[in-house]
Amino acid sequence: QAKLAGKNGHRFYSLAMDQAVERRMHMEHELRGAWERGELSLAYQPVMRMEDRTLVGVEALLRWQHPEFGSVAPPVFIDVAEQSGLIDVIGPQVLHAACVDTQAWQQRFPAAADLFVAVNVSPRQLRGAAFASEVEAALRESGLSPRHLHLELTETAVIGDEARIGQLLNALRTLGVKIWLDDFGTGFSGLSHLRRVPVDGVKIDRSFVADVLRDPDDLALTTAIISMAHSIGITVVAEGVEKEGQFEVLRDRGCDLGQGFWLGVPMTAREFDALLG
Ligand code: C2E
Ligand code: MG
Ligand code: MG
Ligand code: MG
Repeated sequence: QAKLAGKNGHRFYSLAMDQAVERRMHMEHELRGAWERGELSLAYQPVMRMEDRTLVGVEALLRWQHPEFGSVAPPVFIDVAEQSGLIDVIGPQVLHAACVDTQAWQQRFPAAADLFVAVNVSPRQLRGAAFASEVEAALRESGLSPRHLHLELTETAVIGDEARIGQLLNALRTLGVKIWLDDFGTGFSGLSHLRRVPVDGVKIDRSFVADVLRDPDDLALTTAIISMAHSIGITVVAEGVEKEGQFEVLRDRGCDLGQGFWLGVPMTAREFDALLG
């Protein structure tokens, strides 16, 4: 495309690329030490049981509030962290903080005695040699029981190297940690992953949930995912539940758990405190 645009077009293209690279390097530089400076924090979004709409868990979602950039979108800075290797530092900090916060809620509030926390794990983190010991350290240091920790992996994170990842996940599951596949249905061959990678649940991608009321195909696919998951004995979570109608349809189709703006928005640990209190 740059070639077809001719000499000027090419130079313009290069300049834009240089600027993008520079912006990225600047962001990477700023992300270093962001946790220690208090710019990174976790937001917690409630996960509800669909049957009776009770709170059963939370998903920890990383936030970056930068003095100059403002609030940076997670997919943007997570990608920078992933590509630069900074996730090797940030990942364990997220795991540790999520376990500590959740253990404290369990201790302080009867309604949260059995609360679980779901933590997102990036592909690079999962492949790191220290991953299993990082998980064990977070559990040991926080005192959270392993069954209250859920790890969310994307389908792309488990592609390739399935044998090694399968072993790793089985070791974690032996501890009691639960494994969920995130954004389920968007990958290539979701079903074939379930044959090779041991998981405890799938989170139906919100792009399906968004259209269950309008698009019969999306409703059919969602219904099929729920029944397939149940037939192999795993849990189904719907993400992105934004409307009561979506909630009702998913509940009636037997979806186990749900998450979304209609059920509860992501909030600070302090706001979640207030909700429980
Ligand atoms: P995800 O794991 O699929 O997280 C769900 C995303 O959907 C969150 O976006 C959440 O705020 C948003 N969401 C929740 N309910 C609704 C709803 O009803 N409607 C809509 N439209 N959106 C909803 P967020 O926080 O911007 O995170 C985006 C992605 O960034 C996450 O997707 C996850 O892949 C990644 N991420 C976030 N925190 C972490 C982290 O600590 N570590 C890693 N590795 N990735 C993270
Ligand atoms: Mg997630
Ligand atoms: Mg998701
Ligand atoms: Mg559609």
